[in-house]
Amino acid sequence: TVIKSTGSWYNVLLDEETPDGATTLRCRVAGKFRLNELNLTNPIAVGDRVSVEVDILNDAETGAIRGIADRTNYVVRQSPRRKHDLHLIASNVDQAVLITTIIDPGVKLGFIDRFLLMTEPFGIPTVIVVNKADLYEEEELETYQVVHDLYTDIGYTVLLVSATSGQGIEELRELLKNKRNLLSGQSGVGKSTLVNAVEPGLDLRTGELSGYTGKGQHTTTFAELFQLSFGGELIDTPGIKTLGFNYFKPQDVAHNFREIFALSEACRFGGSCLHKDEPGCAVKESVEEGDDRVTDLRYYSYLQLLEEVSAQNYWERRKV
Ligand code: GDP
Ligand code: ZN
Repeated sequence: TVIKSTGSWYNVLLDEETPDGATTLRCRVAGKFRLNELNLTNPIAVGDRVSVEVDILNDAETGAIRGIADRTNYVVRQSPRRKHDLHLIASNVDQAVLITTIIDPGVKLGFIDRFLLMTEPFGIPTVIVVNKADLYEEEELETYQVVHDLYTDIGYTVLLVSATSGQGIEELRELLKNKRNLLSGQSGVGKSTLVNAVEPGLDLRTGELSGYTGKGQHTTTFAELFQLSFGGELIDTPGIKTLGFNYFKPQDVAHNFREIFALSEACRFGGSCLHKDEPGCAVKESVEEGDDRVTDLRYYSYLQLLEEVSAQNYWERRKV
């Protein structure tokens, strides 16, 4: 199992020890995996099951990745550096966990919808963890309630926690237990502090590496898989500040807002309706009538993302 990727090297946790007693191996990727159809910047990700060959000449501490097992699912994002490439974040996950907060910093709630658009293509169960509850006063609690109702109504789990006061930490442990969890959050939401509250001693920052890119010194961070002492795993995904979707077609946006997709059966144009200007659109009707099967907030997010994807329309230009 790949537990860490640094771009050119992958740390692989072995099912069986090597004759020298090593349990992990630093591996390169054999050439042919570099070819892939999706324009992936990285052919292998944390969570992948791979077959490896140990380099006997090199103290048996390194190896080569020779094969990769089919993925049950994976999460990709638009590469932050090369706009037309996709970056494979992780694969074979059981659950995605987005950490956010209502204040300090005041993060844009629209980011939740972007995150869900990333996890929805494979239907990866997603939990929204709202941190820093200890700071909330009436106004923030009201906002939290809106967020809670909005997302639980469409089948996501929402949990209010505080890394500082310990509120909700036991529930969070229960949610993470015995699953492989993909963990994300914009910086400052308290992800590191929260992980430390859930699993004392686990310091995500030790996973950070410094890299020199030629454009100046900066910190490069990569996904890494950690074991949880109470059962299960965490995959930390540092550095997700924004999520773009230039690899989506407009239809992909419509199909991955789950409540909108569910309602599209009733649209005159069914699954090909973009729920924008089409006649006989059940989604628009629902929003106009305010029956809450599709809420204003989500519909607004949907239109924004649809607009963004239609404007870029990277796929159409590539004629893929
Ligand atoms: P990260 O960038 O998401 O890893 O965030 P950090 O864990 O570094 O936390 C950012 C800041 O928020 C730090 O000053 C933490 O002490 C603070 N913080 C984290 N969790 C909480 C919380 O539950 N309540 C309060 N009041 N502050 C918190
Ligand atoms: Zn429609």
